[in-house]
Amino acid sequence: MPHLDLPFDPTCCLIDGVWSKPVAQETIELINPSDGQILCHIAKGGAADIDAAVLSSQTAFYGKWGHTPAADRGRALSKLGRLILENVEFLATLEALDVGKPLEQARADAVALARYMEFYGGASDKVHGETIPYQDGYTVYTLREAHGVTGHIIPWNYPMQIIGRSVGAALAMGNACVLKPAEEACLTALAFANLAIEAGLPKGALNVVPGLGPEAGAALCGHPGIHHMSFTGSVATGRRIQATAAQNVIPVTLELGGKSPQLVFEDADIDAALPFLVNAGIQNAGQTCSASSRILVHKSRYKEVTDRMAQRYSTLIVRPAKEDGDIGPLISVRQKAIVEGFLEKGSDLTLCAKGSLHPDAPKGGCYVLPHLFADVSADHALAQEEIFGPVQVLIPFETEAEVIAIANGTDYGLVASIWTKDGARQMRLAKKLRSGQIFVNNYGAGGGVELPFGGRGLSGHGREKGFEALYGFSSLKTVASYHG
Ligand code: ADP
Repeated sequence: MPHLDLPFDPTCCLIDGVWSKPVAQETIELINPSDGQILCHIAKGGAADIDAAVLSSQTAFYGKWGHTPAADRGRALSKLGRLILENVEFLATLEALDVGKPLEQARADAVALARYMEFYGGASDKVHGETIPYQDGYTVYTLREAHGVTGHIIPWNYPMQIIGRSVGAALAMGNACVLKPAEEACLTALAFANLAIEAGLPKGALNVVPGLGPEAGAALCGHPGIHHMSFTGSVATGRRIQATAAQNVIPVTLELGGKSPQLVFEDADIDAALPFLVNAGIQNAGQTCSASSRILVHKSRYKEVTDRMAQRYSTLIVRPAKEDGDIGPLISVRQKAIVEGFLEKGSDLTLCAKGSLHPDAPKGGCYVLPHLFADVSADHALAQEEIFGPVQVLIPFETEAEVIAIANGTDYGLVASIWTKDGARQMRLAKKLRSGQIFVNNYGAGGGVELPFGGRGLSGHGREKGFEALYGFSSLKTVASYHG
């Protein structure tokens, strides 16, 4: 096991401003996906630790944190943003080791985390209610108030970015947060919490309990002291979380991934599109909720796009995270098996290109080569199901009506992009595609702190990022005052 020089003890939870061992004193092995070796051990929190964390957040919400003026909350978040920027290299190194993502991508995630704190720090005193004209003798106004204690269950693919958009917005509105990071990757969540202490966030404003999903996670979303749950992860777990949270009738924000298409029309600028067509599929080894796994191309440009994407694929080399290549390993042996299962399902398809593995990649690493399949029928499993690996399918189309039907023809609706110079078509398609975000002549996988983000259908509901998240993390109260 390598020696990790951490300024906190990863076998602890952060509860009420103190790093403390979980009640059961248990730990989970954290695996480095680049070599399959144990990276370190983290706390295995359980229901008792969640109880303590929720109690601490309740105390903070009804006490110091809940009475902190919005401008001061914003100042604390902005300071946290500055500390994150000072620690980008440290955070990126942890994330690369823990998640397996190439160092440069991990750096971008750390900068995005800082950016979320800057954005929500600046926004915290700018969200307010309004006055409403009503009957004679009344003054009516609305107040936007924090929910209280919010629960945050985050996945392993973009820990820093998802903490940023979820916890950042919740804290900005004055909620006290209990965060349960993923058991596969949780070091940057702990590092973030440590920086939050340094930034002066009062105890209990942020509690962190690492642990297994069915234990700590289930205890958190079913806890009667939680007033709002936000979750990013798989559809199966999202369903469980919504069902559990329903017992306490609390609002839930779910972001559950997608099968996001890019539509390439006959007049598209292929030179401009090409990097987006490929990168949106392979970034973070395809383990991205908004990954573009379906490339729909007009028949007149189909051969050109297929050949050029295949050419790029043949140069892709999968390497350990620290070597900073195009693609690192997948998160785990389990995820590797899932993606390999999809490749098996695609054995009837035309494989048009794949990448290669660097010869020095350690044997125990969770490596899967990127695969590009051509001429895929829109109803094939690889064109319908979320793979969460570096696999893209090319589907030809002839008419606009046909491509809209294909694009909208999955259970998901997270992101879509349209590559065309025709302005009328851009606007028509932007309306007709069933998706939470539409990009025109670009593709924004993973980016966009300012841009509301969330899905339709199985991609989930509720909106994160931008100002919209602040509405989700607050409750509207109407005050009707009769004064005659
Ligand atoms: P994956 O299957 O790719 O690991 P999940 O959606 O199951 O993705 O995991 C995302 C997050 O959800 C993790 O933090 C995990 O611990 C948590 N989780 C998993 N199962 C549950 C559950 N039953 N209740 C609450 N949280 C859960």
